[in-house]
Amino acid sequence: MKYLVTGGAGFIGSNLCRKLLSQGHAVSCLDDLSTGNYTNIKELKGNPNFEFFNHDLTKPFFPDKIDAIFNLACPASPVHYQYNPIRTLKMGTLAMYNVLGMAARLKIPILQASTSEIYGDPSVHPQKESYLGNVNPIGPRACYDEGKRVAEALCIAYENFNGVDIRIARIFNTYGPFMDPQDGRVVSNFIVQALKNESITVYGDGSQTRSFCFVDDLVEGLIKLMNSDYKRPVNLGNPDEYNMLEFAKIVKEKTSSDSQISFFDLPVDDPKQRCPDISLARERLSWEPKVSIDEGIDKTILWFKKCLSEK
Ligand code: UDP
Repeated sequence: MKYLVTGGAGFIGSNLCRKLLSQGHAVSCLDDLSTGNYTNIKELKGNPNFEFFNHDLTKPFFPDKIDAIFNLACPASPVHYQYNPIRTLKMGTLAMYNVLGMAARLKIPILQASTSEIYGDPSVHPQKESYLGNVNPIGPRACYDEGKRVAEALCIAYENFNGVDIRIARIFNTYGPFMDPQDGRVVSNFIVQALKNESITVYGDGSQTRSFCFVDDLVEGLIKLMNSDYKRPVNLGNPDEYNMLEFAKIVKEKTSSDSQISFFDLPVDDPKQRCPDISLARERLSWEPKVSIDEGIDKTILWFKKCLSEK
């Protein structure tokens, strides 16, 4: 198979490219390098099964021949997606027309990387795929959340009207090697701060929860979903849930850091709780995460140590 991975130089995208290549597939990696990083895929350059296109998906793209698309192109960290909200909304809309149009023309499957953010600040816990969400359409997260919601709507519309073979993965918080130390998200912030013995910045009182999935598990889930015949949204995440103060303490202990924990204002519309119900993925994909937070965080700490030593 030859896969197009959009956002292939990003954190999840580059891990997916490596996994697909290791399975013997060919990969066309597309990225505009706005938040993706070329160094994430540098080592793949000499591989004859790998090619890279520096392309902005808000403009049409006409690949030679591909068999399926993983559409991961979009800034995903709140700091990055709020930097230029109009551009983030274009990734949920204009880029979707282009990528779904490509799938329609070539008559190939497309997997859309959706997100737990489509549930907004959820009033139902844990979140099942049937929960319709609680998103503030005019808040600072709307550019991402509503963009991802309209992207799902576009997938369904292209399926209904053009017969496009769609898959929709609702990805929950993911962490692991190839995360950007400057990503601005909780895992990268806490580990980098702890390794530098700087203050660990907890937002709010740290009682808000997230559930963290190691990237290898997530990538396996994405591939299983692509290879399935299930065409409605599926949650992919690890139900192991922590509040952010607990998580700060875990990171501090695992890094043997002298960092203090400091408290800052909670960002507007920050979801108070988040945890996937993964019954559907278990049932339809025979998938569930295998890597514990203990093992995953150790591997991620090693990654960030390497990043810091190379600076
Ligand atoms: N957070 C924090 N300190 C940080 C970065 C994030 O306490 O330095 C909190 C943030 O307010 C949120 C959670 O950690 O409640 C996860 O934030 P992240 O940006 O990683 O992802 P989100 O799930 O909000 O998209």
